[in-house]
Amino acid sequence: MNFSNAKPIIEARGLRQRYGGNFSLKDINLTVAAGETVALIGPSGAGKSTVLRLLDLLEQPSGGAIVIGGQQVTGSASSRLELRRKMAFVHQKPLVFTTSVFDNIAQPLRWRGMKGEDIKPRVTAALAEVGLAGFEGRQAKTLSGGETQRVALARALVTSPDILFLDEPTANLDPNSTAMVEELVSNIIGKRRLTVVMATHDLAQGQRLANRIGVMMKGELLQLGTSDEIFMAPACRAVAEFIGIETILEGSVIESIGGLITVDVAGKLIQATGEFMPGDRVNLFLRPDHITVSLKSEIGSSARNRLEGTIVNIALVGPLVRLEIDCGIHLLAVVTRQSADELGLAIGKPVVACLKAAAIHVVKV
Ligand code: ADP
Repeated sequence: MNFSNAKPIIEARGLRQRYGGNFSLKDINLTVAAGETVALIGPSGAGKSTVLRLLDLLEQPSGGAIVIGGQQVTGSASSRLELRRKMAFVHQKPLVFTTSVFDNIAQPLRWRGMKGEDIKPRVTAALAEVGLAGFEGRQAKTLSGGETQRVALARALVTSPDILFLDEPTANLDPNSTAMVEELVSNIIGKRRLTVVMATHDLAQGQRLANRIGVMMKGELLQLGTSDEIFMAPACRAVAEFIGIETILEGSVIESIGGLITVDVAGKLIQATGEFMPGDRVNLFLRPDHITVSLKSEIGSSARNRLEGTIVNIALVGPLVRLEIDCGIHLLAVVTRQSADELGLAIGKPVVACLKAAAIHVVKV
């Protein structure tokens, strides 16, 4: 779904936070549309949880502004509480109270002053929604990790929030429970049309659950976009490395004519596309699946870049073969096992690596 024209429900403008120590959250600008799921992805310590806590109004930022549903959040405790009642937060290690599952889920309703007869049907419905119908009488502390996370989800949903924050919802779970919680979250988001901001260090999870992904590192939001945008056009070297692009070449633009550039990389000339000026230092991101490998004797492809080299390493990766080719610069390519066999690829074999100019993503250093 495209949310670019949808109404924003959460806006962070130049959000900053300092705790003392080295970490600081730097000018986070983020708009989340109503009904959208945004996943913040990045290594541990990147600041993902900090952003969630600020957006959940648990903490006051040291700078910047938060706008929820068009209303700028102020320091006033009562207005913050009112806005927080539209939100729910599921923590990485959910805190469960040493009471029954029923009491755990009923708690936020009691905090809101709801009476017993109104509470019961809501708790029953929330448990059914997370696949734990009939668990009311169980002691919360005796549940498995996956069940505990589902109780935490039910406790978040029982208040019918508009916005749900999920902090690493599956970080402590085994693969089966992870798959189950992910499916549950995905169904609930779809059914309830919730707005979700989640933190995860798992890129694949972000891709599965979110409409857009924000890549965070060292307190900065480096890129925000759909997973296609991030995979096809990483904004900088750090994002490219984080998403697993292994071939990153640095060079200087020596010619730029009508959108076609020639880049000198360690003496090799590579053609790519983009609006750059001669003299610009650039990084070229090359994806292994964009490189075609052929034998020197074969008629060349129409690709602009034809680099002769030698295979220096071969590894099997599932049904594919991963090749390292030394062309004066180091390239990684993948081919199917069938083509590796047909071409007789082996270490030491001379080959030609072909690459279309448009398949290379270029950013300034
Ligand atoms: P992530 O969720 O990406 O792992 P966090 O937002 O939890 O990152 O943490 C970012 C940095 O901020 C870390 O270095 C962490 O130690 C620090 N930090 C987080 N919360 C606090 C706090 N309340 N007081 C001091 N330092 C904190």
